[in-house]
Parts: sequence; structure tokens; C-alpha cells
Amino acid sequence: MKNWRKTAEVAIIGGGIMGVSAAYYLARRGVSDVVVLEKDLLAQASTGLSVGGIRQQFSNPANIRLSQESVRVYERFEEEFGADIKFRQVGYIFLAQKEDTWNDFLSSVETQRQHDVPVEVLSPEDIKQRWPYLNVDDLKGGTFGPKDGYADPYLAAMGFATSARKLGVRIEEKTEVTGINIEGGRVQGVETAKGSISAPAVVNVAGPWGGEVARMAGPDLPVKPYRRQVFMTKSFDAIPKPVPMVIDQDVTFYFRSEEPGIIMGMSNPDEPSSFNLNVDRDFLEKVIEAAIRRAPVLAKAEILRGWGGLYTITPDDNPIIGEAPGVKGLFSAIGFSGHGFQQAPAVGLILSQLILDGQTNFDLKPFSYDRFGKKEQEGEKRVV
Ligand SMILES: Cc1cc2nc3c(=O)[nH]c(=O)nc-3n(C[C@H](O)[C@H](O)[C@H](O)COP(=O)(O)OP(=O)(O)OC[C@H]3O[C@@H](n4cnc5c(N)ncnc54)[C@H](O)[C@@H]3O)c2cc1C
Repeated sequence: MKNWRKTAEVAIIGGGIMGVSAAYYLARRGVSDVVVLEKDLLAQASTGLSVGGIRQQFSNPANIRLSQESVRVYERFEEEFGADIKFRQVGYIFLAQKEDTWNDFLSSVETQRQHDVPVEVLSPEDIKQRWPYLNVDDLKGGTFGPKDGYADPYLAAMGFATSARKLGVRIEEKTEVTGINIEGGRVQGVETAKGSISAPAVVNVAGPWGGEVARMAGPDLPVKPYRRQVFMTKSFDAIPKPVPMVIDQDVTFYFRSEEPGIIMGMSNPDEPSSFNLNVDRDFLEKVIEAAIRRAPVLAKAEILRGWGGLYTITPDDNPIIGEAPGVKGLFSAIGFSGHGFQQAPAVGLILSQLILDGQTNFDLKPFSYDRFGKKEQEGEKRVV
């Protein structure tokens, strides 16, 4: 095949935000012989279908650290990458209906404050005063992160990809990886639909297909894809701006503004694992019900469109990040639930450190391959 290079220093499987972020950080360290292999087009899978939320309000300190590093990058994105990703730090408000949820929130706030996360604890009355359109009758309280917000995930991925290309990274779209070559416990490279590439380091950042790619190299990993549906309203100005990301934790309903309308979604606890991306009209009824219960004025909004995207979920809602046990040179960063967009800058940096230095200062214990089934593993509680 014309221009097909058969070698690379690092072959990255997946051109979502994780793949292009890892490629950028490797190239920034001087490794320009990096190839990103994408079976479709860049950032069209989970990344392009994401809601773009960025927050530091996590329960697990390791996730707080990932977010803090990523927020630092997103705040300076235009300066470093020359791209406006429309980062709006309008805040996230998490709402608790149940006593247990509220107690969890308060214990997370302690952890967050120990890690210098700006977070306010609010009573239902405080919430009503600041956001009068929210119904607070059934709430125990809420927590507000003023530095949280959202940005455009597609623009962010394109920012990483453009800068990576300028540093010499090759990006091969429409190039599916079909196999991973291993010899003597060491990765040798990958097979693709266009030919093979030998590489001493291979990275599995295949998002919802991360489990399938992992199987090319060894045993099953507990990561599975699950559909999440999102709905957008027509132009809607009955809620005064700025609208924070509102998370009704006990029902997992959320909304924020997406000019000129409102974007909203909710997890379906009965959703089976699949690659299904269809919109389910019956489920939309449940989302609308939850929306009107939390913000009654949303009864006046009209739905413009909806879409399905895939979360990639592990049993404890934390990702798997690191070198595969028993396969030297094979790295993974998969299973990011609803947090992968916001954590991608930190994870790309970490992957570059693991590949080039064999270590990182970030705490990866909660993200290890062998944690599953162990009692002490806490996972992440702030999941929507
Ligand atoms: C509805 C929805 C809302 C979300 N909201 C948020 C949010 O508010 N905040 C947040 O931080 N995160 C959110 N997420 C999660 C976030 O989108 C993901 O965690 C993140 O995009 C994962 O990026 P990725 O690069 O790992 O995966 P993807 O973006 O899915 O990229 C993986 C890529 O790998 C490619 N690939 C797979 N197999 C192969 C192969 N064999 N060969 C070559 N290429 C392959 C795929 O085509 C794909 O492009 C949301 C997700 C969804 C679905």
C-alpha cells in the first residue's frame, strides 16, 4: 500500500480523545514516530457523542487528581493548542434526594476539600434562592463546584489531533486494528486491515471496543459498552443564564444549557450491555418526567433531537489504566464511564509517562487490572 509505514515507536488503537491526547503527549516528549489507528473517523464514537461535562467533584481522590490536571489543561487549551473549545466554567450542582446520598455527598466534600477542590455545601433554601427554577421540595441539599463546567469534546479532540500531527504523529483513519502481535510476553506490533505495523509499544484506547481489543492480546477484561441517551430541546430561554450542569443524583437525570436550547439525559438502570445507539421514545418519556419534576419550567420545552452514545463501564466505575500484566509494552486506558472526556488530558500525559519513563506520579492503584473482586476497592460513587 502506498505510503504505508510498517514500523512505529508507538501504535495507538483508537482515535477518540484518549488516543489523540496520548499521541500529543508522546510527541511533545520528542517521540514523533507515533501512529494513531482509527477504524472510522476521529472522535466520532463516545467522544463526539459526549455531553462535555468537566468537574472536580468526584468521591475517589485518584479521580480528583485526574480532573485537576485535566482542568488545568482545558483552562489553558487555547494558549497551548490554538483552539477555542468553548470551556464554560458555569459550575456543577449535584442534588441529593435520599439521606444516604446526602451523607455520601458530605463525605465526598471532605475528601474534595482535602484536595483543594472548591466546593460549596448548599441547603434546599440556598439552592432555591440561587436557581429559583429548581424544585427543591424533595431535596436534602446539594453541592456546587464553581470551577466545574463543560466544553466541546469534538473541538478538544481536534485540538489534540492537530497539534499531534504538527509534531509528526501519523493519523490513519478508516484503519481497523484486527490483531495484536505478541512474542515471548512482549508486544511486537499490530495487524490492521491495511497491513501490519511492528511497534515496541501498543496502546489500547478503543473506548467501547476496549474489551474486544484487549481480547486480541489476552484474557477478558471486565469492561462493557452501555447505551446512554441524550436529548436536546429547541431554543429555550425560560431559564436564566448561566445554567450550571444540574445533576439529580438519585435518578441520574442531568441538564445544562447548550445554546440555544437545553441538553439533558439520564441513565437507564435496565439498559443491557450492547452497542445499540438507537433513540428509545419510551425512555424519552421518563427523561421528560424527571426533567419536569426537577425544573417544572422545562414542561414548556420542545425536544428537537436525541442521540445514543456508549459509556464503557467497569464493575466499580473506574477505568483500567496501565501496562497489561504479562504483556510488556501493551498499555490500556479504557472503561471511563461518563468521565473520559474530562480525564483525557491527564490520561494522555500518564500514558506518555508510563511508556517513556515506566512510571508516573499519579496514583493508578484504583485503576489497576487486578483490583476487581477485592474488598478494599472503593471505586467511584459520583457516576451519572
Ligand atoms: C451520552 C454520553 C455522555 C457523556 N458525557 C460525558 C461528560 O459529560 N463528561 C465526560 O468526561 N465524559 C462523558 N462521556 C464519556 C466520554 O465520552 C468517554 O469516556 C470518552 O469519550 C472516551 O474516549 P475514548 O477515546 O476512550 O473513546 P472513543 O471516543 O469511543 O474512541 C475510541 C475509538 O476507538 C476506535 N476503535 C475501536 N476499536 C478499534 C479498532 N479495532 N481499530 C481501530 N480503531 C478502533 C473507535 O472507532 C473510536 O473512535 C459521555 C459519553 C456518552 C456516550
